[in-house]
Amino acid sequence: MNNVPMNIRANPNQQKFSYCPSCGKKDLNPASDKSFVCKSCGFCFYINCAAAAMALILDDQGRLLVTVRKKDPSKGALDLPGGFAEPGEGIFQSLIREVKEELNLDITQLSFLCSFPNTYVYKSVTYPITDMAFFCTVKNFDSITAKDDVADFKFVFLEDVNTDAFAFSSTKNVIEYFKEIKKGL
Ligand SMILES: [Zn+2]
Repeated sequence: MNNVPMNIRANPNQQKFSYCPSCGKKDLNPASDKSFVCKSCGFCFYINCAAAAMALILDDQGRLLVTVRKKDPSKGALDLPGGFAEPGEGIFQSLIREVKEELNLDITQLSFLCSFPNTYVYKSVTYPITDMAFFCTVKNFDSITAKDDVADFKFVFLEDVNTDAFAFSSTKNVIEYFKEIKKGL
């Protein structure tokens, strides 16, 4: 960690990553805020941004569908439906899958709304995230069920949405952005 150039942000994982997974020596050093290099064998490793998608879904009264997180990080906090892209997926595909997994809803249309960065800490590892938000319509709400990593769901009028109750800064930003867009319509 003594080799981190002075002009970059600190690597948030430098305390947890010190042994080289290739040669086993305690010579793994941050090369940037997202990468490590082993001084002994030259092994290089990146923790790049993970892609994640979230859905803004309104019911026929114009209320926003929000979820309650079942698991840490931020268990019990509010969230929007969605999640991480799996390897091999396009982001539309990820969102359609996540909304089906979490709420048993079928997305029929989606359009890109906005994107914000996020930081996700899971079991002491900090992951940089690129969150992308999509305005979505669903076939209907007849089959809606809280499943997977969703403990519960509710429909909230936009003017009543308290963004402070949401787990992540990116989600707060998305909802504030969405509120502004809706005001302009
Ligand atoms: Zn090594």
